[in-house]
Amino acid sequence: NEFIRNPTLGLYSSSDRTYSSSSSGLIPVTLFPGDGIGPEIAESVKQVFTAAEVPIEWEEHFVGTEVDPRTQSFVTWESLESVRRNKVGLKGPMATPIGKGHRSLNLTLRKELNLYANVRPCYSLPGYKTRYDDVNLVTIRENTEGEYSGLEHQVVRGVVESLKIITRQASLRVAEYAFYYAKAHGRDRVSAIHKANIMQKTDGLFLKCCREVAEKYPEIKYEEVVIDNCCMMLVKNPALFDVLVMPNLYGDIISDLCAGLIGGLGLTPSLNIGEGGIALAEAVHGSAPDIAGKNLANPTALLLSAVSMLHHLNLNEKGDKIQEAVLKTIAEGKYRTGDLGGSSTTTEFTKAIIDHL
Ligand code: NAD
Repeated sequence: NEFIRNPTLGLYSSSDRTYSSSSSGLIPVTLFPGDGIGPEIAESVKQVFTAAEVPIEWEEHFVGTEVDPRTQSFVTWESLESVRRNKVGLKGPMATPIGKGHRSLNLTLRKELNLYANVRPCYSLPGYKTRYDDVNLVTIRENTEGEYSGLEHQVVRGVVESLKIITRQASLRVAEYAFYYAKAHGRDRVSAIHKANIMQKTDGLFLKCCREVAEKYPEIKYEEVVIDNCCMMLVKNPALFDVLVMPNLYGDIISDLCAGLIGGLGLTPSLNIGEGGIALAEAVHGSAPDIAGKNLANPTALLLSAVSMLHHLNLNEKGDKIQEAVLKTIAEGKYRTGDLGGSSTTTEFTKAIIDHL
């Protein structure tokens, strides 16, 4: 099945990297089950991986209940060290704690591990009907700066200021990754998404960097699309897009829009690419507190994220097999979770996937 072999999730070549293996010969992988529905969908991934005999061993890390002064967040230094050592990890969603004196867990991981590009593939699932049947695009989100730099303060009472930081270094790096990705996956177009007509300095610099990189890839078509127009075009005809690269906040928003095109947040995976070969896979969605603890969550997004991690590790056979089982289960339609219009629990859906392995 050509679709299942869609390279979108596959070609994170790791032949130039080495991954440690433990005395058991298994590859250690850091696992953050996360908050809300995180533990339920992480359990699903663990069960499917065990059934598929994937040669990895999980190194589970839980978010602390106190701020670790070394990270200024609930993510402990030991957890960061685990990802740095293993170079590969899977992360469940983490709720953003509301309060002062510490950083968001997700921001901590992205900044401390320098996870500079967030790759979010989105494609129509065979057998699962939505308004569109030809979505096949990848959002590549700058992951370390923009409006997510954490620089916010009150100027005077009633006036607050939030800084958007765009640097040449981070923009070049993510643009380079987008073109590299397009080339490696046989995709022929990169669209830079921006609002440089208004954000002239920040998005202007982002675009300038994208243009510089585009010149190095004459075989890939390059275009620039203003974000509001991009939203309209995506809803009208998503097939117009291939690889999209954009600053942090736009990537956060556009990728949820794209998830909506194919059936929702329960379906869309992502892989964070960091310097030094680090890859941290996670679903696009959050901790879904409204359905947490009820055995209702769709584990597909985290499972497909885990598949992209397997491809990154060159465990392609295992990755393809699990992906195929997930897609077949959804296509068959007998077992689907509530977000896809079905009535299966997370556990039943997981079991159906295992039966398809
Ligand atoms: P959300 O993505 O958690 O939920 C949005 C909607 O989608 C909810 O109705 C939820 O039930 C549904 N949904 C999400 N994932 C689903 C799944 N796997 N199966 C079925 N339905 C699913 O967004 P939110 O409610 O805005 O955020 C909740 C918390 O998650 C917040 O604290 C937020 O900061 C955090 N968050 C974390 C991440 C991350 O860890 N990367 C990403 C986004 C949001």
